[in-house]
Amino acid sequence: MDEPPLAEVGPGAEPERVKILLVDDNPDNLLALEAVLQRPDYELVRATSGEEALKRVLHDEFALILLDVAMPILDGFQTAALIRQRRKARRIPIIFVSAMMQEVAHVFEGYEVGAVDYLLKPFDSHALSAKVKVFVELYRQGRELERQERALRRLERRERLQLESLYDVTFEEAPVGIGHASVTGRWMRVNQRLLDIAGRPREEILRLTLPEIVVTQDRGSILEDIHAILSGQAQKRHGEYRFLRADGSTVWTALTLSLLRDRDRKPVQLTIVEDITEEKRLAASLEAAEARFARLSESGLIGIVYERADGVVLDANEAFLSMIGRSRDELEAGQIHMRELTPPEYDEADGHARAELRDHGIARPYEKELVRADGGRTAVLVGCAAFAPPDQGVIGFAVDVTDRKHIEQERARVVRELRDAVRARDDFLSLAAHELRTPLTPLVMQISNLLSLAREHKVPSDADWLVKQVEPIDRALNRLRRLVGTLLDASRAVGELRLERVELDLANLVREIVERTRGDMERAGCDVTVRTESVVGRWDRTHLEQLVGNLLSNAMKYGARKPIEVDVEQDAGLARLSVRDHGIGIAPEDQQRIFERFERLVPVRHYGGLGVGLWIVRQIVLAHGGRTWVESTPGEGARFVVELPR
Ligand code: ADP
Repeated sequence: MDEPPLAEVGPGAEPERVKILLVDDNPDNLLALEAVLQRPDYELVRATSGEEALKRVLHDEFALILLDVAMPILDGFQTAALIRQRRKARRIPIIFVSAMMQEVAHVFEGYEVGAVDYLLKPFDSHALSAKVKVFVELYRQGRELERQERALRRLERRERLQLESLYDVTFEEAPVGIGHASVTGRWMRVNQRLLDIAGRPREEILRLTLPEIVVTQDRGSILEDIHAILSGQAQKRHGEYRFLRADGSTVWTALTLSLLRDRDRKPVQLTIVEDITEEKRLAASLEAAEARFARLSESGLIGIVYERADGVVLDANEAFLSMIGRSRDELEAGQIHMRELTPPEYDEADGHARAELRDHGIARPYEKELVRADGGRTAVLVGCAAFAPPDQGVIGFAVDVTDRKHIEQERARVVRELRDAVRARDDFLSLAAHELRTPLTPLVMQISNLLSLAREHKVPSDADWLVKQVEPIDRALNRLRRLVGTLLDASRAVGELRLERVELDLANLVREIVERTRGDMERAGCDVTVRTESVVGRWDRTHLEQLVGNLLSNAMKYGARKPIEVDVEQDAGLARLSVRDHGIGIAPEDQQRIFERFERLVPVRHYGGLGVGLWIVRQIVLAHGGRTWVESTPGEGARFVVELPR
C-alpha cells in the first residue's frame, strides 16, 4: 500500500531528461543532428536504419523521433507506419527529415496517426532546435499530466481502500447488529453484534432468512414490513420483534428495515437490530411497580403526598385530599402548602422529622394532625422519604387515625372510670366494715353482759328490766339489717330493679314512715313537720319506703339537729315529695355527683354511711319514670325533691 511520494514538479526543479531518437542511414547526418540538438536535458539516441529504430522504440520511451525519409530497406514512412502499430509508440511525435518537399507533402495527405511534422534538408539549425523544443515541451507536459493523473488515481485508490476498510471495521465493530440480505431475504453479510443478538453462529445465520430467526408469533408482521420495503411502500420500517436464539431463549429487539442498492444497483435489504430485552424488562418491571403503587394509591387505605423541596404539594391521592378537605383543582393550581396543613403545636415534631429526613433520607412515622380546609383537623400517622438528590422533594404517607384516636380516648376513659370504680369499691369495703362494726359493738357487749348475769342467776324476773336490756340489742340488729339490705342494693345493677306496682297513697306511706322513725328523729334532735295532700298512684311500696327512709335518714344525719319539713303534694299528673333540712348543705358543684354510687362529701369519722343512699333513691325514681334533684345553699340546709308520675 505504500506509494512513492509524488515527484516534485515546479519552477525550481531540474527539467527531466528526455530521450530523442535520431534515425538516419547516413552517420554524417546523424552527427549534424546531434551537433544541433546537443543539450544536457536531451538524451540523443541514434539508429541507422528503420529496423534499429523499431527495436529502440520497443525498448525505450522517446519524446520525439527524427526520422530520415530516404533510407534503404525500410524507408522513413514505412518505419513510421510500423512504429504506429506499436501501441506503446503510437503517440510519439515524428519529424520526418527529407530533402524533397514533394515527397513529404504527398505522405502527409494519408497520414493521420499522432503528431507529425517535417524538416527539409539542408535544415536550418534554429528551426530544427525550435521545433524539437516545442515537441519536447509538449511531451513533458503530457508526461506531467500523466504523472499527476496517476498520482490522483493512486490517491483515490488509497482513499477508497481506506474507506472500505474503515467501513468494514465499522460494520464489524458496530454496537448495533447490522445485516444485509438479498431480496429473497437470505442473509448475505451480518456483523458480530447481530450474531451475538441472534445467538447463532455465522454459518448458521447465512443459511437462514430474517423471518426464520424471529419467533413464530412475530413472523407475520415482519413479513409485512419486508414486503412494504421491497414494494417501495415505505422507505423504512421500525418494529419490535423477538429473536429466537439457538438455545431456545428469546431476545426482544428493535428492528429497522430499509433498502439499499449495491455497486451494481441491485437492491439489498439493510437490517439494523438493537437488543432491547433489558429495556423491555425494565419497562415491564416499572409498569408492574407503577401498577402496584397505583393500586395502593387508589385503594384509599393511605394518603400519599408528593411535595416539592419548598413544601408545595405537587401531587396527592384522593385519600390525602379528603384528609385535608381540599380539591384536586386547588392541588393542580399549586395552592396547597405543607406548612398550612400543620397546626402550630406540631412544629416541633415536624422539625424533628425534617432533621431526620436531612440526615437519613427518611422520617420515621409519627402522629400529628392535618388542618382541613374547613378548619377541622384529621389525626394522622405520617412518615416520609426524601428523593436523591434532596431538591427532588419528598414523598410521604398519611394514615387517618381519627377512629383509633377515639378508641384510645374511649379506652383511657374506661380505664379511668374502672380505676375510680375500683378505688370507690375499696373505699366502700372499708366503709362497710366500719359501718357494720358500729352496731356490732354494743350488740356484743349487751349480749355478753346478759349472758354473764344469766350464768350467775342474777337475772331479775322483772319484765321492764328485760325490755331495757333487749331494746339496744333490737336497735343494733335493726341497724345491721338495714346495712345489710343497703349492701345488697348497692351490689345490684340498675336493670335488676324490679317494680311491683300497687295502688297506694304516697301521703299515707310518708306519714307511716315518719311515725316509724320518730324515735330516731328525737334521738337526732330533729323536729319533723309533715304536710301532705293525698296523692294516689301505682308505685312499688317497698321501694318507695326505702326511698323515703333514705331521704329522712340523710336529713337527720346532715340536718345539724335542726327541724325537718316533709311535704307531699300533687301537681298535674305528678306526685311531688320534698324533704327539707337546715343542716350543712351541699355545694353546687357537688349536687350532681352525690347521686352517684359511693360518692360522699363528708368524712366517715363524722358521718357514718356507705355513699349509696342517694344512688338508690335515684335508681328507684328512674325505675318509676320520675326525676329527683337537690336544691341547697351550703350551711343553710338542703331540699331533696322527688317527682313521680302517677
Ligand atoms: P351516705 O351514706 O354517705 O349518706 P348518701 O348517698 O345518702 O350516702 O349521700 C351521699 C352524700 O351526700 C353524703 O355522704 C353527704 O355528703 C351528702 N348528703 C346527702 N344528704 C345530705 C343532706 N341532707 N345534707 C347535706 N349533705 C347530704
